[in-house]
Amino acid sequence: MFTLGGGVGGGIILGGQVFEGGIMGGSEVGHQVVRVNGRRCTCGRKGCLEAYVSVPALQRSAVMRA
Ligand SMILES: [Zn+2]
Repeated sequence: MFTLGGGVGGGIILGGQVFEGGIMGGSEVGHQVVRVNGRRCTCGRKGCLEAYVSVPALQRSAVMRA
C-alpha cells in the first residue's frame, strides 16, 4: 500500500504480518533512493522517492516548468 501527499508513505505485509523494518521502523518507502545524487530530500539525503513524487515536490516541479 502506498499513500501520496505531503510525503510518501507505505506499508508492506510479508507472510501475513506487517513488516516493521529495522532501526527506523516500517519500510520507509518514501526515503528509498531512486536517483543517486538526486534532489535533496527533507530527510537530508539526496535522491529519495519523496523528493520526486510527494505533493510539495510535484508543486516545485510545476513551478519550475511554468
Ligand atoms: Zn528522504
